[in-house]
Amino acid sequence: MIEEPEAEHVWWKSTRDGLCHAVSLDQAKGTRDGMYDAACTKVLTESTTDKRDFPDAERCPYCLSAMGEKLVAVALALVMCVANGLRPGGRPTR
Ligand SMILES: [Zn+2]
Repeated sequence: MIEEPEAEHVWWKSTRDGLCHAVSLDQAKGTRDGMYDAACTKVLTESTTDKRDFPDAERCPYCLSAMGEKLVAVALALVMCVANGLRPGGRPTR
């Protein structure tokens, strides 16, 4: 199974398309109407969701991309920090 870089989402399989969609942990704890908004804006319901762990199930490309954009943003912030801290060939600004 692939290690999750972040634990803010769970992957639930939709019985409609057979793909796993990312659902935020807040919603995974339970929603009042039993509807879950996946990262790809698809709505999962109790009756169309299989919450078991499916390591081999295909993940929704839209959810993956939504998760990926988040990770890219974090990576970019990290790069900016490093770039600001290290100024190759430059004198310290202080
Ligand atoms: Zn999805």
